[in-house]
Amino acid sequence: MGSAGSTSRQTAPVREAYSRDPMVRRGITGAPPRTRRLTRPAARLASDRGPSGRPDVDAASRRLVLTAGKDRLSVVADTDIVPSGSVLVTGAGGFIGGSLVRELRQRGVGRVRAVDIKPLDAWYQRVPDTEQRVLDLADLKACQEAVEGIDLVFNLAADMGGMGFIEANKALCMLSVLINTHLLMASRQAGVQRYFFSSSACVYAADRQVSPDVTALTEGDAYPAMPEDGYGWEKLFSERMCRHFQEDFGLHTRVARYHNVYGPLGTYEGGREKAPAAICRKVIQAQLDGSGAIEIWGDGEQTRSFTYIDDCLEGTLRLMDSDISEPLNVGSSESVTINQLVDIVEAIAGVRLKRHYRLDAPQGVRGRNSDNTMIKRLLDWEPTHPLEGGLRATYEWIASEMGLRASASV
Ligand code: NAD
Repeated sequence: MGSAGSTSRQTAPVREAYSRDPMVRRGITGAPPRTRRLTRPAARLASDRGPSGRPDVDAASRRLVLTAGKDRLSVVADTDIVPSGSVLVTGAGGFIGGSLVRELRQRGVGRVRAVDIKPLDAWYQRVPDTEQRVLDLADLKACQEAVEGIDLVFNLAADMGGMGFIEANKALCMLSVLINTHLLMASRQAGVQRYFFSSSACVYAADRQVSPDVTALTEGDAYPAMPEDGYGWEKLFSERMCRHFQEDFGLHTRVARYHNVYGPLGTYEGGREKAPAAICRKVIQAQLDGSGAIEIWGDGEQTRSFTYIDDCLEGTLRLMDSDISEPLNVGSSESVTINQLVDIVEAIAGVRLKRHYRLDAPQGVRGRNSDNTMIKRLLDWEPTHPLEGGLRATYEWIASEMGLRASASV
């Protein structure tokens, strides 16, 4: 795999514990998928817009075109899943939520409401022809307003960030419980058809992640519970809340456990960024200021898998389209050390930097990878984008952002 060379793939059998899950035993499944399938999604996108088209669609390529800095970024749907009905995306001013709004419009979803607490000019993406609202979803009344007239809810809102943020802000992370709880309550009241919650690999028990050559995590490994303090506990609690809203109130819920999602239009500075974007930024910065050096948190031998945003969106839409109500890993199983991640970004940049290791910096667990046995079995799919290609796209986007900024400040 690219310049890093020695990546490892690890899998483990699905744990018995998972199949003993009471939800599975009771055979609870969701309502019939509220989606329609199209045989030619791109053709439909083009024809829907008529001869004049809309400003967000490139007529020649039939692709949705967005403005990212000075550059045009285009994306193409790679499946035909198109949610039907009116859709709410929360956290739409952030990385995954904004990308999901874009993807839904790309696939031809007609009515998309995008909500975030941030002022509109701070949203990472503002997708044309969507309804955009600024609301604090920790508040029940705001949640009621957000779900009014909505069929499908994708909850991507949370106060979160990379390891540097979540280790220093455990109470803030746990307060996201208000968002999911109030959104569930409002969704139930409003008769929402289906509800998606963005959980995290941080729910997994710490004692299963103590070595860099960790056995990849299966869904059953979340219990007995000992998740990441703060952020992971909130995610695990909110997963349970989704489960009990389905069991007790009949609200159909879907839960994805994302593993380190990265890509263009994500956070790359300010303290909430995650490893791939942070390393891209540091490598670019080292070139801009000529330092020739990079700081790495820990000894760089901790392992992770990183999921490209397109895979995250595809997994999200497939899971929402399915009748799977148990939490499911949505993550790449391509495991690398942080040192290997730096190797890849250096190769993309064509530089070699002196590495300074900060052993006192937040590092999270020692090793983590996604076991995709369950998602392959249930959805016949798993993330496919190789890390090197995803990092290249991410690096190029961040470089263009930082280059822009550097020249603007001259
Ligand atoms: P992000 O920080 O870019 O987006 C989250 C958005 O939620 C932000 O724009 C924020 O303003 C908004 N938000 C926070 N509090 C809010 C409130 N009270 N009301 C309304 N909006 C509020 O994060 P992201 O990377 O896009 O993550 C989206 C979801 O996926 C989160 O739930 C996150 O925990 C989960 N997740 C992300 C990753 C990852 O690697 N990015 C991994 C695992 C899970």
